[in-house]
Amino acid sequence: MSTHDPNCIFCKIVAGQIPAKKAHEDEQVLVFHDINPWAPVHVLVIPKRHIATLADVGPGDEGLLGHMLGLAPRLMRDLGVTNGFRTLINTGKDGLQEVYHLHMHVIGGPRPWTKG
Ligand code: AMP
Ligand code: ZN
Repeated sequence: MSTHDPNCIFCKIVAGQIPAKKAHEDEQVLVFHDINPWAPVHVLVIPKRHIATLADVGPGDEGLLGHMLGLAPRLMRDLGVTNGFRTLINTGKDGLQEVYHLHMHVIGGPRPWTKG
């Protein structure tokens, strides 16, 4: 499995070729603010390695997925979200996935939101 897709916009963000407002970075993942937020806080948690969709994860990826989900409450706390949040992964065509690099939306802050 390739780790970097030169045509992938999120791989370009990981590589620093496209700017993003980063909220967290570690060995496995990058977190940055969504360019078109639905809510006061809207970040995307992505693996640094290119995985197209949640349907493409392998048996060795449970640790990565657990790390992504486990980060969410910490990120929201650090970003001042105190009243709950949503976590969302769109997968494939019927899942209305737009960017084919696995990402988890983490969305919070006071309502009303523009979407969701
Ligand atoms: P989806 O694939 O439908 O789960 O959503 C893709 C998300 O990526 C959308 O919410 C977009 O606003 C967001 N997005 C697309 N390009 C960028 C970018 N360059 N920087 C930050 N967020 C982006
Ligand atoms: Zn990618």
